[in-house]
Amino acid sequence: MSYPASMRERRPHLKDHSIEALRTRFAAEGIEPWRAEQVASWLYARGVEDPARWTDVSAALRERFAAAWERRALEWDDCSVSADGTVKGRLRARDGALVESVLIPEGDRTTLCISTQVGCPLACAFCATGALGFTRNLSVAEILDEVCRMRERLAPGQRLTNVVYMGMGEPLLNLPNVIESVRVLLHPKGFALGPRKVTVSTAGVVPKIGALLAAVPVNLAVSLHAPTDAVRDELVPINRRFPIAVLMDALRGQREISARRPVFFEYTLMRGKNDSLDDARRLAQLVRGLPSKINLIPMNPHEDAPYQPPSDAAVEAFASELSRRGATVTVRRPRGADIDAACGQLAARRASPSGEPQASGAPKPRGARSAA
Ligand code: SAH
Repeated sequence: MSYPASMRERRPHLKDHSIEALRTRFAAEGIEPWRAEQVASWLYARGVEDPARWTDVSAALRERFAAAWERRALEWDDCSVSADGTVKGRLRARDGALVESVLIPEGDRTTLCISTQVGCPLACAFCATGALGFTRNLSVAEILDEVCRMRERLAPGQRLTNVVYMGMGEPLLNLPNVIESVRVLLHPKGFALGPRKVTVSTAGVVPKIGALLAAVPVNLAVSLHAPTDAVRDELVPINRRFPIAVLMDALRGQREISARRPVFFEYTLMRGKNDSLDDARRLAQLVRGLPSKINLIPMNPHEDAPYQPPSDAAVEAFASELSRRGATVTVRRPRGADIDAACGQLAARRASPSGEPQASGAPKPRGARSAA
């Protein structure tokens, strides 16, 4: 049966709910609530979207799901593979909006970095997504379909081990949908990830941090990027509303943050901006006593921002000053920079401005350098 577009829009989406919420929704529609787990294990654990293949579901119910419910929110638009094995997917929503997700293999880990908004309203000075402006929030189904689509690119035997909400957008400005999607990532009939395997990152939307941590047992990452308000006001404009002292107080007040569940600070190093040894000392002072780890990310340069990474020696000096002063610190090497897939480079740019979207189905990866 085919439906006109207007009616299709109004059909409920099986991926728009956590499994708990789907039970309630089913009950209200006269479907047995336990069918929610069944449907979830087809959609997420097994990755089968066509109800015709849901062999343990009655024929009548299979037809009902096929006719009256949506099961798919994102289609492939483009896919590129970096020389280092990083895969960037550009995915297309029903309204034509483009979102990007990045699959990052590192030894026996495979991390997926997902987006939560089309564009971003926070306009951080050094971020390519921020330069796009904000279009809209992603739905729960769209967030989960990033995982479903990108999983199609895993090699045989490769398993998705970690998910980070560090793609396009500010997760805490789309909090209800982020929470519902996390619930599906963690649910045994969903993607069955362990709670320490999921990380949600914020640029510092302070009033929402407590609600996130109370709702779901994920890791919290905070994009800090400067130890003084003068510099952070420029780099991360939301600092003007929630300055560093307010942010740090809020973090210190979270019961959920502990040595077992530290907060991760992201600090993008920009030459001459926030990379002096004084900055390192102030940063160490700021985090003292707070269970935390600092991830240093040398700036990934791009055409929308004037900032450059420091020299390798300056990055090393900054890192050792921090650890000398008791901070736990790691330097993150950029991944997928050759295909604009590294932190802060996601801008869903089309290769050709008028490029027609390709037909659905996973496209052949385009290698930036020596891919495939
Ligand atoms: N809005 C959320 C989620 C995005 S996470 C947040 O800001 O935390 C993406 C991370 O990459 C953030 O820490 C962001 O500040 C950082 N980033 C942005 N642009 C970058 C760039 N050009 N080089 C390195 N890191 C960048």
